[in-house]
Amino acid sequence: MLHSLPREDNYMHRGMRKQLVQILRDKSIKDENVLAAIERVPRHFFLDPAFERQSYEDRAFPITAGQTISQPYTVAFQTQLLEIKKFDKVLEIGTGSAYQAIVLAELGITLYTIERQRALYDHVGQFQLIKKYPNIKRFYGDGFEGLPSFAPFDKIIITCGAPFVPPKLVAQLKSGGIMIAPVGEDGLQKMLRITKDKEGKIKEEEMGNFMFVPMLKGKNHTK
Ligand code: SAH
Repeated sequence: MLHSLPREDNYMHRGMRKQLVQILRDKSIKDENVLAAIERVPRHFFLDPAFERQSYEDRAFPITAGQTISQPYTVAFQTQLLEIKKFDKVLEIGTGSAYQAIVLAELGITLYTIERQRALYDHVGQFQLIKKYPNIKRFYGDGFEGLPSFAPFDKIIITCGAPFVPPKLVAQLKSGGIMIAPVGEDGLQKMLRITKDKEGKIKEEEMGNFMFVPMLKGKNHTK
């Protein structure tokens, strides 16, 4: 991939992004801050230049190391569910292409994001765009462990299909916090909104079916 080369963001790309935002509105995404963030982020920078048009279609796309950049609708839906407030401290599991990370960073938060694949972690480090976001802190590690030394978090978002709700992540959620997690095996997950009330009591709500690449245990060192 050609992430490190300079890329252009011109009127044509901005036009395609406006259309994408309209598609997301039609699919009932309502959070204006989330829509505005998607309208600002040049998604075509995340894909090979040969796929400029496809980058503004509402679908997932293969990136490096057998992984995917999430579908814009999924990114918008999960971000909307997080009810982001400025200055929130947010933990993301599954940096992948960093598209979701940058959409979150556009909302004025501090993001801690973990990726288990060394190749992807290194790849994102070469990406010019991410250098514009000092509010994104990247970690190479296993998302099942979270980041105990930076906890607690106001919000937690998992962007891979978790076999169960990771207990260590629930423990790292602030009281009053929200965690959005696709949970389930075999390529089909239920999106869960997990909230922790002031007394530390946990509530789980189902928000529909989605498909994600699996959340895997441990780190993958392959470069
Ligand atoms: N948020 C990404 C989605 C990428 S796909 C984006 O916007 O592009 C999901 C990512 O989760 C993959 O990169 C995969 O390697 C990563 N992943 C899977 N299991 C993980 C784990 N236990 N810890 C951290 N990352 C994990």
